[in-house]
Amino acid sequence: MITVTDLWARLDGLAAPLPTERIPLASARGRVLREPLLAPEDQPPFDRSAIDGYLVHPSQPAGLVSLVGTVPPGRPAPSGAPVPGTALRVLTGSALPSGCAALVMQEDTHLNDTGQLMLLQPPSPRHVRRRASQARAGDTLLAPGQLLNAGALALLASVGATTPLVSRRARIAHLVTGAELVPPEQSPAPGQIRDSNSTLIAGLLGDAHAELIWQQRVGDSRHDTAAALDAALATDADVILVSGGASVGDHDHTGALLAARGFTIHCDKVASRPGKPFIAASRDGRLAFGLPGNPLSHFVCFHLFVRRVLARLAGTAPVPLVRARLAPGSEVRPDPRETWWPCVWADEGTQRRAKPLPWRDSSDLTVLGAAEGLLRVPAATAAGAEVDVLPCR
Ligand code: AMP
Ligand code: MG
Repeated sequence: MITVTDLWARLDGLAAPLPTERIPLASARGRVLREPLLAPEDQPPFDRSAIDGYLVHPSQPAGLVSLVGTVPPGRPAPSGAPVPGTALRVLTGSALPSGCAALVMQEDTHLNDTGQLMLLQPPSPRHVRRRASQARAGDTLLAPGQLLNAGALALLASVGATTPLVSRRARIAHLVTGAELVPPEQSPAPGQIRDSNSTLIAGLLGDAHAELIWQQRVGDSRHDTAAALDAALATDADVILVSGGASVGDHDHTGALLAARGFTIHCDKVASRPGKPFIAASRDGRLAFGLPGNPLSHFVCFHLFVRRVLARLAGTAPVPLVRARLAPGSEVRPDPRETWWPCVWADEGTQRRAKPLPWRDSSDLTVLGAAEGLLRVPAATAAGAEVDVLPCR
């Protein structure tokens, strides 16, 4: 049985970044940038005022000056400093004469009714946001692989990069197997249960650079499962996910059906609890995963393996493990397999702490809504004070 760490290495070798596309900024949130963002000009592009106040000559001492005009934000800068004895009103963001701006804050002045301005302080260059103080033309502002969150999108907008080059989203087909399953809106007959994995996967994919293009439920017969798998393969999905049927029971067809269709099976079990039956397969650059049907196993396998592969396909780094201390009083049962235990953050001051959540078994959905991470409990040993956590949000 392959270990989680070895499977990560194997999966990393299977998932190459998908092709790119240019898309409008408004639809780029959550995508991964695939080109460097270079500053097209100095940032800021001109000297600007950081305050509301007055522009004076750099040699102007404190004392009375006459107010001779205003430079509103959005207007070009004056060609030079005002002559000594005069001042120009400026506001935050006003353009300033290049390299020679000297400002007095409004709070350090007093304006009388005759337009005479008393400077209580001499001017200071401190209040100027200098051209190129943040970046020079040609500097790299964002590197390829950057996740386009709201902050990164704002930076793109600020330099007019309105059609960024991003990874195409991975297309996912999801086949849900199990004769016991009914849709969530249906009342289960005796012995039946509602399908929760369809909803789980649809939700998880939304935050994982991927797009669900096909999703179908099928019973347990080999014939029907084969037909449904062929329908999934007939789509242009990059990744096929099969829920349930990944183990060795009478109704577990996933591995055999994939192998019969020419897929190379890279693993069929992984030393993880929950999540042991896990199939990873590939054929001509296309990937297929068989996930155990139990909802908590599903959640764990998705975060450990599928999300990692989707990050690689998107051309970005997988979510890294976070080092944390176990919250005091936490009890985690070790197992011969490595355990990935749902947990929440319970920080104390600056100390990152992980608190394990109680779970009964791998079918236990009750913790999924609260889980903020998966705490790694090494095989056969209880977790020490220092643990690794895979964040899931
Ligand atoms: P399997 O991996 O198909 O052997 O399923 C393992 C367990 O997970 C069984 O108890 C199934 O009923 C349950 N299960 C399988 N698929 C789903 C699903 N889509 N939603 C909820 N439970 C499921
Ligand atoms: Mg099943």
